[in-house]
Order: sequence, then structure tokens, then C-alpha cells
Amino acid sequence: MNKKIVILGAGESGTGAAILAKEKGFEVFVSDSGEISLPYQALLKQNDIAFESGHHTEEKILAADEVIKSPGIPETAPMIVKLREKGTPVISEIEFAARYTDAKMICITGSNGKTTTTSLIYDMLLRAGLNVGLAGNIGASLALQVAHEKKDYYVIELSSFQLDNMYDFRANIAILLNITPDHLDRYNYDFQNYVNAKFRITQNQTKDDAFVYWAEDPVIDREIKKMNPSATLYPFSLKGKAHSDTVNAAYIEGNNLVVEAAPEALSIPVDEIRIQGRHNQLNSMAASIAAQILNIRNSTIRESLQQFAGVSHRLQYVATVRGVRYINDSKATNVNSCWYALESMKTPVVLILGGKDKGNDYSEIDELVKEKCHTLVFMGLHNEKLIEHFAPLGIPYVSTDNLHDAVQACYHAAKEGDSVLLSPCCASFDLFHSYEDRGDQFMTAVRKL
Ligand code: ADP
Repeated sequence: MNKKIVILGAGESGTGAAILAKEKGFEVFVSDSGEISLPYQALLKQNDIAFESGHHTEEKILAADEVIKSPGIPETAPMIVKLREKGTPVISEIEFAARYTDAKMICITGSNGKTTTTSLIYDMLLRAGLNVGLAGNIGASLALQVAHEKKDYYVIELSSFQLDNMYDFRANIAILLNITPDHLDRYNYDFQNYVNAKFRITQNQTKDDAFVYWAEDPVIDREIKKMNPSATLYPFSLKGKAHSDTVNAAYIEGNNLVVEAAPEALSIPVDEIRIQGRHNQLNSMAASIAAQILNIRNSTIRESLQQFAGVSHRLQYVATVRGVRYINDSKATNVNSCWYALESMKTPVVLILGGKDKGNDYSEIDELVKEKCHTLVFMGLHNEKLIEHFAPLGIPYVSTDNLHDAVQACYHAAKEGDSVLLSPCCASFDLFHSYEDRGDQFMTAVRKL
């Protein structure tokens, strides 16, 4: 009898996994406790895949030989608990898809900068003329791509939730950008659980593989000393060629970004890099190291650094209204990314904060808020924690529960030469469908001012 595969959650990854599993001859059943969106339902029907939407039929799910779980479903979901008790293997879509391709895997994780770095590496590989796919949290699922076409390389953005259910997967190049507290609500409020999930990116790597990481990140540094990964290490650093006892593969020297992961070094003035800000220097170093390891020419890497314009909703310039610049950083869904956004601001700031709190500690941005912000605008259904934290700083604030009022409050508070920055530190789900929805609505409201 055919092996039975059950897929829990029919979003991009679940639907892709179902199509690949079907193609590989498994008996496939898809179950989603929420409503499956119509385009995905249509895809499942088209591929003759059995599914249920809006509920879970326990006996069908528990009959599975293996389960592929959407990264959105927590370990504590009742159905996952039951599967674990029964001993059924539960894996991620990436783990499943990787079994059916021998492409080189370039994988990127970190608390912040994943999408930017993933997109930049993809841009470099495309410019180099390689046959490459972009997957993970971006675009079409890895499984769907593996089902439909043969690529030589995949550049894959991996969240900690995807990494949680990866066991045998091996990254040829693994990039760990940084680790700061995020998603603690999914990790039992224990930071170490989240750290361990991130470090799964280097599990199964051998010395033939590369582990690229930010040398100054204290958490990464501590863990590397503890676990001594088998991969060949490629640290990068803002502080220069040698950092404590490591020799960096990329670093900042004076006004230049230098990359030395290949015999011939690349040096480029940081002002020539199109995506600006200190965080983007880190992302650029990580991407360039990966490209050099893949033998991409320095001239191609340089061209990409000069031309790659970044990704929407990340410090995206929206418009200037009455001399005030409006910036959409809706993707700043944790405190650390807001820190980098504030750090890159060169004018006085009116800052919009708020949304669904994920166990945030806002004290990380206190100093920058005091230095750069003259008004804070809170936008969320529950602003109590924000008020409690920021009111004692003595900076004027306005508390709102919708986007229209928040944008109006900014409009009245901002003076010519200021920037209004939406960099909310929080998830968007209290008032919006997603961070993209939040950013889009913000940009629309600003353009109507
Ligand atoms: P992710 O995919 O990890 O969420 P993004 O590239 O989408 O990362 O960027 C998310 C937010 O984090 C943006 O607001 C951006 O300004 C900020 N950011 C980008 N790169 C970094 C970095 N290396 N370190 C800290 N913050 C960053």
C-alpha cells in the first residue's frame, strides 16, 4: 500500500507539498482547520488531491505515516500533540521537498534581514546566469518548484518555525544573520529554545559546507563556541579583518566593505551600495560571501550591490508631504529591527509603534527613541504596555486604535525636515491581515494627505 502523507495547513507551503507528494506517488490528504483560500482549493482540485477545509478529521490525520506541517501551526496545537504521542514523524515542507532535489541549497535565517539577504543573493545568482530558484518564506514554495522544474540552486529563506521541523536537511551554504528575541510566544517564553531552532540551520553540515554568520552577535558567538559546528566557518564583521580569535571573511575597513571568501578580494565603498544603513552592510557582507563561495565574479557581485534596490516594506520611502518624509518599515515586527531603522534615521522622527506584542522588551530602543523621536504614535488595539513603557521617558505620545487616526496624528505632530517612520516592533494581526496590508494601507493613507 502507498505511504500515507497528511498535510496540515493549506497555504503556499502546504499546497506545494501536497502537489509534490502526489507527484511522487503518495496517498495524500490535506487538512486545514481554517478556511482554505479559493485559489489553493482550486489547485488541490486540479491535482486531484483530497482535502478538508475548516476542520480536522482526527482519524484521517492520525492514519498518516508522515505529516507535513505548515510553519504557522505551533507544536502545542492539539492535533500535533496527538501525532507526537503516537510517534508519527512531523516534518516541514522544506525537509520534504529537499528529498527530491540535488540542487545546491543556500539557506538564510536570522531574526532580521532574512528577506533582504535572500533577495540580494538571488539577484547575484541571477546576474551570474545561474539556474536558480527563490523559496522558503518568499514566492512559490520549494516543494512546488521541485515538482515543476529542475533548478541547480535554491536560495531559501528559513524561519525558525520551518527549522523546527527539519531533521536530515543539509544546507550547502547556511547563513545566520543575527539572533535577538522574537516569537517568544511560540518558544515557551524561553529564548534558548528559539536560539536552538535557529542553529538547526547548520545541523548535518560537513566541512565541505559553509556556515556564514555575524561574528559580533553575542548569542551566535556564544553558541558557536559551545557547539563547534562541523562546517567551514565564514564570519563577517563591522569591526575589521580580525575579530577576537577569528579572521573574518568580510568586514568593514574605513569606508569600504571588503569580502575575502575567494582568492581575489572584493572591495567596494559603502556609499556605493544601494541599500543603505548599517544593517544592510551586514546583509551585503553575508550575501557577497555566499556569492564568492559559489565562484561568482567580483564584478557581478559589485554590480548587484550597486543596483539591488531592496524589498518593499523595509525602510521603504513613501512620499514627502509638506517637507516631511514618510517611511514604511512595516516589516519591523520586532524590537531589534526598529532599532536598526531608528539608527539609520538622519532627521528628527515621529515614530509609529504598536500592534500585536510578541513578548517584547522595548528597553532596547529607549536610547534611540530619546535621541531621535520627538513624538510617539501608538497604533493598536492594546496600547497599555506601550504607554506603560514609554510614558516615563517623557516624550509626547498619542494613542490611537486605527491607521487613519495614527497617520493624522503624525501629520499634525511632524515638522518640516522630520521623518515619519512606521516601524512598529509588533506583528500586525490586531488591525491588519499582514504586515504587507499594514504597509500598503499606510502608504495609501500617506499619499492621500
Ligand atoms: P526578515 O525577513 O528577517 O524579517 P527583512 O529583510 O524583511 O528581514 O527586514 C525586516 C526588518 O528588519 C526591516 O524593518 C529592516 O529594516 C530590518 N533589518 C534588515 N536587516 C537587518 C539586520 N541585518 N539586522 C537588523 N535589522 C535588520
